[in-house]
Amino acid sequence: MKQCTKCKQTKAPTEFYKHRSRRDGLYVHCKVCVYAIRSKQKKYEPDYSKKKQCNKCKQTKAPTEFPKKSVNRDGLDARCKVCCNAADRDLRIIKRFMR
Ligand SMILES: [Zn+2]
Ligand SMILES: [Zn+2]
Repeated sequence: MKQCTKCKQTKAPTEFYKHRSRRDGLYVHCKVCVYAIRSKQKKYEPDYSKKKQCNKCKQTKAPTEFPKKSVNRDGLDARCKVCCNAADRDLRIIKRFMR
């Protein structure tokens, strides 16, 4: 038997999802709690029919030019892939100088 860290109920191991990196091989939350957590998180799927304007370079591009971001309303990052990559590169350069 295993206790769920969320609802504090002791349940059979079959009531828990498997989790490979955990010591007992099981998730800390029971299936019911995992399901409750998952259904609460709203995920947005990208709408590939509409073009989107990047809020960095202000260019209107196809949705496929934006990285996916399911937490955003339109399912896409506010910045296009090019801008995201550029920002990553800048960050790496800044980090190098910080050291
Ligand atoms: Zn639970
Ligand atoms: Zn851009």
